[in-house]
Amino acid sequence: MHRSYEDKDITVFWDSDKCFHARRCVTGCPGVFDFERRPWIDLGKGNTADIWQTIETCPSGALSVTYNHDVSIEFDEEGHCSRAFLNGEQIGECDYLESGERWSIVHTEVDPEFGGKGIAKRLVYKVTEAAERRKKEVNPICSYAVKVLGK
Ligand code: SF4
Repeated sequence: MHRSYEDKDITVFWDSDKCFHARRCVTGCPGVFDFERRPWIDLGKGNTADIWQTIETCPSGALSVTYNHDVSIEFDEEGHCSRAFLNGEQIGECDYLESGERWSIVHTEVDPEFGGKGIAKRLVYKVTEAAERRKKEVNPICSYAVKVLGK
């Protein structure tokens, strides 16, 4: 399972397949990370510095985090994609093809001047999370999605 959690400053990614429940997150920021709660991550219950430091102690790599850089990510089901926007201008896109119960991620691209800011990962997670919530199989085909999803 792949989930992302955003506030205005950061996006936290969680890959449940990697998590071996060492609970460093829970002990590091108990208000933010709580496996008994849904959603189990609530960024409003901590400050960015503490959350960031706690995520860096995750031994499995299940948790990761990036700054948002004022970029918003939107999912467009009709358009079969997620899109990244900065000040109303589109700066990135992740496209998938739907075939039966399978969503194949075929293309992920961010304007080169915005590279290295975690935007592509946010785009892939947005599509993956939407697929998983609809019980669709995710099939990463583009090389970036393969790298992010580790398949
Ligand atoms: S610290 Fe990482 S491995 Fe440990 S419970 Fe939290 S997410 Fe899972």
